[in-house]
Amino acid sequence: MEECPICFCQQWELFTTAVDRVLLRPGESWEIQRCQDCGFGLTTPVLSEEKIKHYYPSTYHGDTVRTIEAFLSGKLQRSRSWKGEKEKVDLVQRFVDKGRILDVGCADGKFLWALDPEKWDRTGVEFAEQTVRLVNDKIPDLTLIEGDLFSDKLPENSFDVITFWHVLEHLPQPRAVLERTQKLLRPGGWLFISLPNFDSLQARLFQRHWYAFDDVPRHLYHFSPRPLALLLKENGLKVFKHVFFSSRVNFHCLKYSLINWSEAHFGSRFPYYMFKPLLMVFPLLERLSGKWGMLTTISRRDD
Ligand SMILES: [Zn+2]
Repeated sequence: MEECPICFCQQWELFTTAVDRVLLRPGESWEIQRCQDCGFGLTTPVLSEEKIKHYYPSTYHGDTVRTIEAFLSGKLQRSRSWKGEKEKVDLVQRFVDKGRILDVGCADGKFLWALDPEKWDRTGVEFAEQTVRLVNDKIPDLTLIEGDLFSDKLPENSFDVITFWHVLEHLPQPRAVLERTQKLLRPGGWLFISLPNFDSLQARLFQRHWYAFDDVPRHLYHFSPRPLALLLKENGLKVFKHVFFSSRVNFHCLKYSLINWSEAHFGSRFPYYMFKPLLMVFPLLERLSGKWGMLTTISRRDD
């Protein structure tokens, strides 16, 4: 086993095994290892960056043409998914209300579309070449760059805000990613990182049925507040606050974890409907324990 990318310890314990519920490749399963020192999680076997790409189907970001049409016609703005984007905007604007923003792994860029172009200079980076081209053709006033945050098109010391909405856990080399993030931020700039919390009640309760494990092996890593804070600190980023955000995504994750469990044990969704009322109470327990299913860590460049 390799060493922990966060604390360099080599003592791992098997947390659980999981299958890729997006691609459902028969016979493939993944181990989720947990660092006994810092609690960081690692999906094994570890894949090369080249191999990881084969685990992203071309449909991973949905139908970009349709989403753009829905946005331009105003239909998207009345949808549920749009509410999710507006929630992110509201969260960011509680701390900073205008400036230059970079969304890393922005997919079709919906979050950027939801920001007021009068207040925000909006940039996104995304690997999916076709998605980037379609959006740049049709949506004015924002820039999507094909590639990753190491692109030389991104100027250092320039962003007021950088966001990773459920992206950091997908990226190889999280240490290098945060080092680069620190350089791209202007001094005092804000960083928002949202991800599933490996140290959550949900993860412990549902184990291999936990919905966040549906996305292995694309989730290369499994973060929680402690290892994330360690990594941020080492890279000159000061944790400002961990928040329970978003409760909407949290509920979605709980719901599908229960469905996974129900189908695995009983071959049907029936038990899910029986236990569904408990899903209303569970977030309260998560709040009281502080072991939320979804974590958003807000930090600032420390100089
Ligand atoms: Zn560790």
